[in-house]
Amino acid sequence: MALPVENGDPSLFLIKVLPGFDVKKTFDYEQFRTLCVRLFSEYEVEQDEWRVREVFELFDADANGVLDNQEIHSCCNWIHAIVNPVNVLLVVDVQNDFIDGTLALRKCGFGQDGLEVVQPINRLLKEGRWDKVIYTQDWHPENHISFFENLAMRELHPKSEITKETAKPFDTVVFLQPHITQILWPKHCVKNTWGAELHKDLLIIPSSERVHKGQDPDKESYSAFEDAEGSLKLKRILSAVGATHLYACGIAYDICVKQTCLDCLRLGYPVAVIEDCCRSVKPDSETTTTYIENGALVERSDRILSLVNDGKHSLVMAHQAAKFINQTKLHIM
Ligand SMILES: [Zn+2]
Repeated sequence: MALPVENGDPSLFLIKVLPGFDVKKTFDYEQFRTLCVRLFSEYEVEQDEWRVREVFELFDADANGVLDNQEIHSCCNWIHAIVNPVNVLLVVDVQNDFIDGTLALRKCGFGQDGLEVVQPINRLLKEGRWDKVIYTQDWHPENHISFFENLAMRELHPKSEITKETAKPFDTVVFLQPHITQILWPKHCVKNTWGAELHKDLLIIPSSERVHKGQDPDKESYSAFEDAEGSLKLKRILSAVGATHLYACGIAYDICVKQTCLDCLRLGYPVAVIEDCCRSVKPDSETTTTYIENGALVERSDRILSLVNDGKHSLVMAHQAAKFINQTKLHIM
């Protein structure tokens, strides 16, 4: 997509996207704040004014307190991505083994039930106007390094506190080759088996895509971006659709959803995690803090549906977009 305002008059662009917005000659912080109240809400701006200030400072490259020329153009490109989002939903690992199989959350001992994500995610799929839906699947070979049952296959590092003799499922060991620290999960999601299939009640959108992860026998891939083949495919889909905003839900909030979201943020995408459409292996507030500290929006599905369906915008996601537009315009143009 071409730069929306590169050669045009930014004030015309602003009036077009924000009818009635009073474009003053001097685009200072007060004018920018007024613009943010129009884009987001008075409440969001008051609650999180530091974000508004930081975004303004990101655009005010010469730090002279006003946005001029190229700075206004960058700012308008940011607004363009906010008001013309391309929304992609990532449905992470809603697979039999995490719901009723060998690694069912309810067997992990922290009181969570993976089945509870299916209906809320189906509602998101039915009611949300998504530009693309991507389902990820843990997709392991039989000899995968993360399986407790495969412990005999590889040497442990002499410094591994847990030895082969004492190891139990869910313990953490250190392997010698490859030299990695690994949680030993019960064997799960072996490719082309029932355990790796998406749950039968999960709605599958016809134009959706599937991305597999964890295919390398010697590598854990909690994030869909950690699998070489899966990562290539995922990046290609996001780029082809021109994704500007990513939304994640599924299993598990504290493992695969989290690592996938953190990688999306590293790649520069604004990300929201839909908390009532996720379940955890081990629920704790630390996971939510990690999401927030890394720039993700943590929200419930009602609010997310208002973002994707009703033209509402999130200051948290826009803040993340502004950080990235100043590094590269890749996802904004
Ligand atoms: Zn796995």
